[in-house]
Amino acid sequence: MAVQTQTENNFLNYVNGEWVGSDTNETIINKNPANTEDVVGQVQKSSRDDLNKAVSAANTARNSWRNLAGAQRGQYLFKAADILESRLEEIAECMTREMGKTFPEAKGETARGVAILRYYAGEGMRKVGDVIPSSDSEALMFTTRAPLGVVGVITPWNFPVAIPVWKTAPALIYGNTVVLKPATEAAVTCAKVFECFEEAGLPAGVVNMVTGPGSIIGQGLAEHPEVNGITFTGSNIVGKSIGQTALERGAKYQLEMGGKNPVIVADDADLDLAVEATISGGLRSTGQKCTATSRVIVHSEVYEKFKDKLVSKVKEISIGDGMKDGIWMGPSVSESQLNTVLSYIEKGKEEGTLLCGGERLCGGEYDKGYFVAPTVFDDITTDAVIAQEEIFGPVLALMKVEDMEEAIDLANDVEYGLSASIFTTNIQKMLSFINDMDAGLVRINSESAGVELQAPFGGMKQSSSHSREQGEAAKEFFTAIKTVFVK
Ligand code: NAP
Repeated sequence: MAVQTQTENNFLNYVNGEWVGSDTNETIINKNPANTEDVVGQVQKSSRDDLNKAVSAANTARNSWRNLAGAQRGQYLFKAADILESRLEEIAECMTREMGKTFPEAKGETARGVAILRYYAGEGMRKVGDVIPSSDSEALMFTTRAPLGVVGVITPWNFPVAIPVWKTAPALIYGNTVVLKPATEAAVTCAKVFECFEEAGLPAGVVNMVTGPGSIIGQGLAEHPEVNGITFTGSNIVGKSIGQTALERGAKYQLEMGGKNPVIVADDADLDLAVEATISGGLRSTGQKCTATSRVIVHSEVYEKFKDKLVSKVKEISIGDGMKDGIWMGPSVSESQLNTVLSYIEKGKEEGTLLCGGERLCGGEYDKGYFVAPTVFDDITTDAVIAQEEIFGPVLALMKVEDMEEAIDLANDVEYGLSASIFTTNIQKMLSFINDMDAGLVRINSESAGVELQAPFGGMKQSSSHSREQGEAAKEFFTAIKTVFVK
């Protein structure tokens, strides 16, 4: 039976300024991965027809939206930011219950969403082009920016507020209209962001959200002839297929995908800092970040000392329901994600030496959710499966090296290139790392996870389609340059 009237946490689709039920009369129920007896809410299991209506609404709204002044568009984003801020705790709680990250992290992410909205609201008053001297002294030549039109936004579950906002806010401020398909696992949380857009009074059709299976709604967005741009964050396998579809029909696309992020610990590193940052970067959010540390490459002179400190700290991590005080790490997002992580752990046991963790947590409250122990492996070689494939779980692989050259070779020896960190006090090592590391984010004495919203974000190699999100870089994707010649 479809939910045809919206109640708290039971969401319809947001299309043309209204909450509407799907034609399918089917819904998807989301449960708490820390306690599957806790039903968080439900969303529509939509069809292509539902999607077509949303695209049509966005297409109808595009001309009047693009013709507003940037500052006027910005006012809507400022309002949406205020509303999101006023609902921060409620939305963060929903996030924790729906996808498992701890409540402090969920609050931090929601606050990030507020800041992103404000950043792009201000962008509506910044310059959009340059005057270029013409060789004709009687002419004026300049560049301006045009929106793409209707933008399709496809987002993952691991940042259900920040990622939808960091794609939607720049799309809107530069004059595009949006149809967003959130990840099913965290669609209830994302729908709450759309309530904020609704309350901010964005004109009908400017932002739309349609929930449902990726293969129907996500693929439908990629294929739709009236969708002019597609921005996707998620796994490589899905991203590549979306990119191929968009390329074939000439739509602009942007793909931000997986990572297999290294940390290098040099012989002169501050080991306490390196341990703390490796744990934070690798295991926070249960390792479910594209920028999570997964390979830890350590100089032989400090290897044993670093390993002992790391393992003893990992064993202290408190695991449980992220709404509870004192819990540092929550569950995997779903049973299938848990099983994926457990199968990589079994592989790791064949490929190296298990130092700690290595199992699903059972007994008491753990039996109600998808908890896995934070896991560290020793003696991993670069060709190991767990050193090459993205696990998206709380698993660290230690690798020993003799010098910086070997460390950087190993760090680069994967198909991904999203984020990379080094811990060293030596400026030459820092500089060679900055030069030689094939990664979009290069961090010195700082964990691999974490981005600032005003800086470009994205990866190299298979981590990205090589465009960048966030900051001023977002303008490159969400607009096209027009060169104007006036005489
Ligand atoms: P995913 O399975 O690729 O899903 C991402 C989105 O694509 C979801 O909305 C999903 O919908 C949709 N989708 C699934 N199949 C589709 C298809 N055939 N056609 C079109 N859309 C489809 O990824 P995820 O599990 O949500 O997220 C984890 C991945 O995201 C990891 O690889 C992680 O590294 C990556 N990630 C990257 C970044 C970055 O900025 N580089 C940031 C965060 C996460 P359903 O949910 O309905 O399946």
